[in-house]
Amino acid sequence: MAREPVLQGDFPTDDERQPRPNNEIPADDDRDLRPQHMTDMVGQREVYERIEIAVDASTKRAEPLGHILFDGPPGLGKTTFATCIPRDLGVDFQIASGAALAAPKDLIPYLTNAQEGSVLFIDEIHRLPKTVEEFLYPAMEDFRVDIVLGEGVNARTLCMNLKPFTLIGATTRTGLLSAPLRDRFQMREHLDFYTVEELAEIVLRNAVKLDVRIEDEAAFEIARRSRGTPRLANNRLRWVRDYVTSKADGCISLTLAGDALAMQGIDVAGLDNQDRKYLETILRVFQGGPVGAEAVAHTINVPVDTLIDEVEPFLLRSELVVRTPRGRKLTEAGFEHLGAVPPEPADVDDEAERPLFD
Ligand code: ADP
Repeated sequence: MAREPVLQGDFPTDDERQPRPNNEIPADDDRDLRPQHMTDMVGQREVYERIEIAVDASTKRAEPLGHILFDGPPGLGKTTFATCIPRDLGVDFQIASGAALAAPKDLIPYLTNAQEGSVLFIDEIHRLPKTVEEFLYPAMEDFRVDIVLGEGVNARTLCMNLKPFTLIGATTRTGLLSAPLRDRFQMREHLDFYTVEELAEIVLRNAVKLDVRIEDEAAFEIARRSRGTPRLANNRLRWVRDYVTSKADGCISLTLAGDALAMQGIDVAGLDNQDRKYLETILRVFQGGPVGAEAVAHTINVPVDTLIDEVEPFLLRSELVVRTPRGRKLTEAGFEHLGAVPPEPADVDDEAERPLFD
């Protein structure tokens, strides 16, 4: 049974309840490249089809869409899905960040501003404090919140009904979400890395939006070097465009794309300086591993969260490293990528070699 969360004490003032200017697309460099509707999105076909069915059914029944949770590494389209869905439904949406919702009162303006059928998107939902998470449960399930006003003998509970709305959560760390919160989402969708073909299509489409000419081979080269991530493909396209504008006649050729990316330290596998530093540290300082993520993070002076959320997923996916019960370990491909010789199989510790699945 879920506990009935209540908000103690400080009910928000009128000022705090003012609508926030946040029902716009998040301010980021990608604003002009971000798809506006789901039909403009490339890849993630299975997720797309399931969401399309849910959106269609909710429109036909004239009922709010069920709550949806997206998880996956950064830059794969969680925010894009979350902003396209309300546009496709023709409803309002608000955007909040889990890190900024420090107390239940921070959430109240969003809940009371939510119109019938509208979407509330909470990014980085794994960063919600437990009190806020518990306050959200009855809002998600029964569209109400319980607020305790005053203290001691004068305390009274105010039950506030909300308009039925849809919560869309996004997280890079689904493992950090509590089971009760996870279970309150009717749909849970995992976004995976994109194929080179999908990224090349994104690069070609975005080159048109950025008004730059690009050869197909160059688009594929940028795609190959984008770590399966549309946000990186966009960043790399912008950099190559700048390089070509400055150094050449403005058309992106394969050679120019390769030169521009090499100048940024992006290698043929798409790894950047930070990725290589991570692999090299495991090789040089920890003899290829196994080593804990914290030890590597401290050695290369990167927050451990950044390492786990942003650096490791693609390296694990590319099988350059594996996670074992005793920590991260370079694979044969990892050694080879760094031009090093993998250890003889006899030197390998069986226990450390067993991959860790969680
Ligand atoms: P996340 O929220 O997962 O970190 P975003 O949704 O912000 O990622 O995506 C980053 C950028 O990548 C977007 O602004 C958009 O330009 C691009 N992008 C993401 N997914 C797609 C897609 N499926 N098709 C085309 N572009 C995409």
